[in-house]
Amino acid sequence: MAEAREMARGRKFEFVGQYSWLDFVNTEFTKIDGSGDALHDLADLIEWLVQAHLIDRNQARQAMKSWGRGEVASRVFRDAVAVRKELRVMAERLANRRPAPRRSIDAVNTTIRKRPGCVLLARRSGHFEERTRLDLRQPDHLLVPIAQSASDLLCHGNLALVKRCANPACGAFFHDTSKNHNGRWCSKECGNRARVAAHYRRTRTDAQRAGT
Ligand SMILES: [Zn+2]
Repeated sequence: MAEAREMARGRKFEFVGQYSWLDFVNTEFTKIDGSGDALHDLADLIEWLVQAHLIDRNQARQAMKSWGRGEVASRVFRDAVAVRKELRVMAERLANRRPAPRRSIDAVNTTIRKRPGCVLLARRSGHFEERTRLDLRQPDHLLVPIAQSASDLLCHGNLALVKRCANPACGAFFHDTSKNHNGRWCSKECGNRARVAAHYRRTRTDAQRAGT
């Protein structure tokens, strides 16, 4: 029951992008069972931020208490959707090996400019990375870690590795971390589905040939 309710509220998020901002873009999706949006309101966005490890449960509770309702909630959610739209344009451009558009960079900068908190050193599977410890002093700060993730990729990542999943029913954006950088699918599931489909096509063609 609880699970059905979570699904209905779009609380089942997927994290295949390797960068939070790509996962954020992917919250608007096309899937074999239809296209849709996993985010419907600020509560969804806050839950997504928790699942993306960008804020913790305490911060989420506090944010919901302070800004989770009324006009503030609607405004921040509208802003988030507007930022996501610009980030989607950027993901599409990068996946097509074209430069990041000016408007998307502006959207990232407008958000990042509000950055509160500080950058801390964190150890992660054998190497160090900078992680922003976010102080949520106003609701606009909720979007900062997403913009920060876009900035990280633009400054330190490999833009040529931004790809779109080759499964036409998926289309999720991801940063290809495969060994030879020849990954075509966002996840094992999509890769397996594609291989099963190819196998099915082959065996069907073989059967047709055998039949003639
Ligand atoms: Zn996929």
